[in-house]
Amino acid sequence: MNKNTGNGSNGNRKLLIYLILFTLLLTLIRLGGKTIKEDEMRISYDELITEVKDQQVESITAYESTLNIDIVMKNEEEKISAIPGLTELAEFLRIEQENGNQIKFEVKASSKASSLVVQLLTLSIYIGFLTYMIRKMNGGSDYTIKPVTSKVRFSDVAGIDEEKEQLEEVVTFLKNPEKYTKIGAKIPKGILLNGDPGTGKTLLAKAIAGEAGVPFFQANGSSFEEKFVGVGASRIRKLFTEAKKVAPCIVFIDEIDSVAQNRYSGHSYSEQTLNQLLAEMDGFSTNQKVIVIAATNHMDVLDPAIIRPGRFDRHVFIPMPDVVAREKILRIHARDKKISDNVLLTDIAKRTVGFSGADLENLLNEAAIYSVNNHKQYISSEDIDEAIARVLVGLKKKNSAITPEEKWLTAVHEAGHAVVSEVVRPNVINFGISIVPRGHAGGYNVFDESGHKYAKKSDLLVQMQVLYGGRVAEEIILGDISSGASNDLEKASQIAHRMVTRFSMNGSLLTKIGSESEYNQRIDIRSIEEAEKICKENYEIARRTVDAHKKQVISLARLLYEKEYLSQEEINAFILENF
Ligand code: ADP
Ligand code: ZN
Repeated sequence: MNKNTGNGSNGNRKLLIYLILFTLLLTLIRLGGKTIKEDEMRISYDELITEVKDQQVESITAYESTLNIDIVMKNEEEKISAIPGLTELAEFLRIEQENGNQIKFEVKASSKASSLVVQLLTLSIYIGFLTYMIRKMNGGSDYTIKPVTSKVRFSDVAGIDEEKEQLEEVVTFLKNPEKYTKIGAKIPKGILLNGDPGTGKTLLAKAIAGEAGVPFFQANGSSFEEKFVGVGASRIRKLFTEAKKVAPCIVFIDEIDSVAQNRYSGHSYSEQTLNQLLAEMDGFSTNQKVIVIAATNHMDVLDPAIIRPGRFDRHVFIPMPDVVAREKILRIHARDKKISDNVLLTDIAKRTVGFSGADLENLLNEAAIYSVNNHKQYISSEDIDEAIARVLVGLKKKNSAITPEEKWLTAVHEAGHAVVSEVVRPNVINFGISIVPRGHAGGYNVFDESGHKYAKKSDLLVQMQVLYGGRVAEEIILGDISSGASNDLEKASQIAHRMVTRFSMNGSLLTKIGSESEYNQRIDIRSIEEAEKICKENYEIARRTVDAHKKQVISLARLLYEKEYLSQEEINAFILENF
């Protein structure tokens, strides 16, 4: 704890120095500005006399309390000057006027009322700024954080059952901490949820708080970013002070990567914030029942210090929902909506590969809006279609940073998968092709592969050919290959290995059948050779297929490049026209 205070006051001292320097700088700029401007305008008293005599002066304004005067020349230029005395000037001008000089002369009570207003304004801006800085320095007293009572339950979070199970223990602990602390059991301090945006990380953290019935603090990593030195750290301190007051409780920090980036990433200021966070977490004794849950979708940039034991030492990966999870999520969000009987959530789930939980929720909301706009009582399948198209547009926009070359490569790659699939297994439906990047995937085909619980050998082989279709299309059409196919290649070789070592589909190596892990311990050269042979054969089939359908692959790729997403109907239309 001593360490913290040291950190904090050190930061404040630094801040104070910055503050003083800044004020000085501002003053200098102001003074400097004034001097330069006034120097240009200033003329000597002698010059003034000459100008007046030359009839160049339109008017003169003098002020009772000073010897400064304002001059307006006939050419509308403004000048200033200082005079020896008011009576002297008045006498001189009276004589001039008598001699026919049209000069106007006026004496005002006080010096430049307008400039006084300006000065007052400047002063109040200064005071405002100072107050602001001092408040910031004191830890941003404008930063308040209050816990909420979460009403979310585990049953509101769908499709991530295993992940929920992993976190159930935390709920048990929060409900009955004594049970754990009595026997000295090690309880988690920090849990790191890692996954794409919208996959339900916040929801899950809220569900833990809701199930345990403890207060829930929510903060965003970016609110600890350093706009002023020391602010981030002091906000962290404040957050934990509040949390400890109401413990047991959950502190949820979203987008932790914005404060916990690798120290060498050049974010020098956030280091203090990060240290503060680590110090707070290290400072917890076992009976301090604050559980910190952090979320990120950039595990890779996190400072290693944050994932060390005793800090965020439990990592839970929250995946993008697969087809089964998507259907479950849709069911949850359909609970409070009237949906027509002919809308099948199973079908929507199949058509929405790449949608996160948040996207699916959004999709049903959009559909509900369409149905209301169309004065319908129930959400129809047309409403769903429109909503899918709409959400897809949004998803496209988010990932606009992709070069035309990359886009073309993805289009060719995905067209390769699609064409090979159409040729080698025409009965398998393609629900859609997208070249909109999503998560780690550049693009995807949505094949209906759901009916293959017990895969037949022939099915597995064509599946491998389809997997190779992407890489092969790159090779044949672009004359070059990319790393984008690595996942396909991995999947294909997995299939081949399983065929050899688990299903013995090759007719040989019958003695090698066993669980994969068992098998891996004694890697068998012969089975690798067998698998390699299967891979080669099917790669070759894919190559021949693409070669024979080059024209189709290219025109499908062009269509994809233009539209970025093709629905099942559009794919069917293309097939009818081109095959
Ligand atoms: P994240 O924190 O991962 O970015 P959120 O938890 O904020 O995602 O998700 C936003 C919303 O999307 C949630 O409030 C919920 O309505 C919906 N959602 C996301 N994932 C799921 C899920 N697995 N089950 C149910 N709803 C979900
Ligand atoms: Zn691919």
